[in-house]
Amino acid sequence: MAEFFDEGGRVSVLTTQGIDRLLTYRAPEGGCWEGAFVEVPLGPRMVMGVVWGPGEQGFDASKLRAVIRVLDVPPMRAEMAEFLTRVGDYTLTPMNFMLRLATRAPGLTNPPSMRKIYRLGHNEPDRKTEARERVLEVLESQAHSAFTLKELAEEAGVTSSVVKGLVKLGAVEEEESPRDLPFPHLDYTAPGKALTGDQAAAAGALRDGVRSGTFGATLLRGVTGSGKTEVYLEAVAECLAQGRQALVLLPEIALTSEFLKRVEERFGAKPAEWHSGVTMTERRRVWRMVAEGGAQMVIGARSALFLPFRDIGLIVVDEEHDNSYKQEDGVLYSARDMSVLRGSINGAQVVLASATPSLETWANAQAGKYNRLDLTSRFGPAVLPEMRTIDMRQEDLPGNRWISPTLATAVRGRIDEGEQALIFLNRRGYAPVTVCRACGHQIGCDHCDARMVEHRFLKRLVCHQCGETKPMPEACPSCEAEGKLAPVGPGVERMAEEVAETFPDARVAVLSSDLFASARALKAQIELIAAGGADIIIGTQIVAKGHNFPKLTLVGVIDADLGLQGSDLRAAERTFQLIRQVAGRAGRGDVSGLALLQTFQPEHPVIRAILSGDEEGFWKAEASERQAAGVPPYGRLAGIVISAPDLDAAMNLGTALARADGPIVQIGAQVFGPAPAPIARIRGRHRVRLLVKAPKTAPLQTALRKWLASVDLRGDIRLSVDIDPQSFY
Ligand SMILES: [Zn+2]
Ligand SMILES: [Zn+2]
Repeated sequence: MAEFFDEGGRVSVLTTQGIDRLLTYRAPEGGCWEGAFVEVPLGPRMVMGVVWGPGEQGFDASKLRAVIRVLDVPPMRAEMAEFLTRVGDYTLTPMNFMLRLATRAPGLTNPPSMRKIYRLGHNEPDRKTEARERVLEVLESQAHSAFTLKELAEEAGVTSSVVKGLVKLGAVEEEESPRDLPFPHLDYTAPGKALTGDQAAAAGALRDGVRSGTFGATLLRGVTGSGKTEVYLEAVAECLAQGRQALVLLPEIALTSEFLKRVEERFGAKPAEWHSGVTMTERRRVWRMVAEGGAQMVIGARSALFLPFRDIGLIVVDEEHDNSYKQEDGVLYSARDMSVLRGSINGAQVVLASATPSLETWANAQAGKYNRLDLTSRFGPAVLPEMRTIDMRQEDLPGNRWISPTLATAVRGRIDEGEQALIFLNRRGYAPVTVCRACGHQIGCDHCDARMVEHRFLKRLVCHQCGETKPMPEACPSCEAEGKLAPVGPGVERMAEEVAETFPDARVAVLSSDLFASARALKAQIELIAAGGADIIIGTQIVAKGHNFPKLTLVGVIDADLGLQGSDLRAAERTFQLIRQVAGRAGRGDVSGLALLQTFQPEHPVIRAILSGDEEGFWKAEASERQAAGVPPYGRLAGIVISAPDLDAAMNLGTALARADGPIVQIGAQVFGPAPAPIARIRGRHRVRLLVKAPKTAPLQTALRKWLASVDLRGDIRLSVDIDPQSFY
C-alpha cells in the first residue's frame, strides 16, 4: 500500500537527471502519495521526478526545498517501481536512467489543454499537387493516429500552409480535441478464425494460463503459416475478457501495419501503437491511456515494456529469437528476458513465440521452467519447403558472378511457371569491400576500424558501424592511382545487377531496409511483391521477418556460409535461425516450395541440420557444446567495453581492472582480456574489451559492482557493462 506524505513531510525523490541517488524534499501543499510524479527544483532548474519513499531525516529541515507540484498523471505503481529497480540491478544501470526509460513520453509535465488535431476530410482537393498528395497519404495510412499541425506537416514533408490550404478545401478537417482520448474498445467477444486441432489445444492452454491470473512463461513454437498469431490472439482475447491489458512486442516496425490489420479483423478496432514511428502527440496519449486503463492492448517495440500499464495480464514476444530485442546502446537490456521479469512481478502470462526459438528459451523449456506448445501443421495444403544444398566447389562460375548455373536453372523454371523466386543475401549495399588494384589498399572509415561499403543506389561509401558516408573517390586515397578502385564481393545491389543480366525479361524487386526513404515506401514495395508485381525478389534479412508472399515458391541462399565465419558464440544458432526463417518463405500458397543453399561446406554440421530439418537434434547438439564450454545459457557472461580517444588510456584501465580481479575470482568467475575489441575503433574512440565468464548460479552482479567500484573514470574514458551480451563487437 502506497504511503501518503503530509505537506512539509520529508520525501525522497528519484529524478531523471544524472545524479545516482535519491534527493530529499519537503512534500508540497496538499501532500503527496508515494509514486507521485512531481516537479522539483534542482539547482537553477525544474526537473521531473517520482516520490520514491520517505526522505532522509538527518539534516536541517530549513535547508530542504519543497516539491513544486504534483503532476496530473497517474502515480507510478509499486510493481513498476519494483520492475525498474530490478532491471537496474540486473543490468547495473543507475536508477535515473531507468526512470528516463519509463517516462519517454513528451509533455508529461504540461497541464492538459485543448489543441487542434487534423484528420482526413470528405472533399477531394480541386487540384492535386505532390505536396497535397503526401499530406492525404499520411492521413490515410495512419487514420487512427492524432496529428498536430506541426507533426502532420513534418511527417508529410510539407509546409504548414499546405495543410491549412487543404483545410480550407475541406479535404482535411481541423477539430478541437481534448488531449489524450481513450482508444476505441476492442471487442474480445467476437469469435476468431476457426482453429485446427493443435491450434485449438494450444489456444486453450494459453487461455487457461491467462485465466489463472498468475505468472507463467510459455514457448509457443510454430513455423511460418502455422497459425501462431491466431493462437496467441486467443490469449489476448482472454486477457481482455479478464479486464486486464495485453502487450504484443514485434521485432520490426515494418511488421506492425500487417499486424494491426489482423488485430482489427479480430477485435473490430486498432490497439495502441508504441515505436519510433509514432508521433510525439500519439506517444503521450499512449503513455497516459496505458496508465489510466484507456488502452486495452499495445503493440510495440521493445521499449513498450516500460510503459506504465495499469494492470498487465499478458505479454507476447513475437519472433522472440530476434536480435532487435536486445538494446545495444544506453541501457543494455534484453526485452525478451525483461518481459519474463515483468510478467513475474505483475502476475502476468508471458508468451515467447518463434519458429526458431533462441537457445536460451529452448533450454528453459527443456528444463521445465517454461511451458512449451508446438504447432505442427500449416494452414492449407502447403508443407515446409524441400531443402537442398548446391555444392559451390562443383559449380562452374566466372569471377564476379555469384548465382550458380544450378540455381539459375531453378529460378528460370519458377518464373516460367508464373511463380516467384527469392535470391537471399544478408548484405546491404553493392560491395562489402572496395580495393585498389594498383596498391591493394582497402577503403576504410576515417573514424572506425571498419571497411566502407559501397552503396551505388546512394552513390556513396557508407560505414555500417557509425553511419559515416563519403563519395566514392576518383583516385586511390593511398597511392593516388586513378580508375583503379574495384568492388570486391557481392551485396544485394550487385546481385540486382547480376540478376538483371541473367534474367533480362524478369521483373526484379530489391528489399533492403536502406533502399527506402520511409516505412511507407517499404510497405508499398512489400505489397507490390505480395500482389505478384515481381518475378524475382532480392532481399536481405528483412525478408526473413514474417512478410507473406503467396506466389513465392523458390528461395536461393547465395552464401549459406556467411554467418558461420564469425567467432561469435551464437554464429551457428543465428545461421540456423535465419536460413530456416528465409526458407520458410517458400511455398506458402498451395504450391510446395524449394530452398537451395549455395555453400562451400555442405558437410558442415549446421548446414546439415538445416537440411535435415531435425531442429531438436540441432538444439541438443548446440546445447551440449555450450554446456561443455560453460557459456550461455549454461553459464553467464558479462562484456566490459572501455573506450577512450587514446588507446593507451583505455588499455591501461583494462589492465588495471584485470589485475584487480579479486571480487570476480571470489565467485568462481574468470576475467578474460583486456584485448582490442573486434571493432577496435568507433567514431574516433579506441575500444578495449574484457569478458567475465561466471558459473550460472554465481552472484555475478554483486561481484561486478564490487569490482567496478574501484574504477576511477578520469577524463574522457567511458566504461559500459553488458550483462548477457548478444554481440561481441
Ligand atoms: Zn592504391
Ligand atoms: Zn565509421
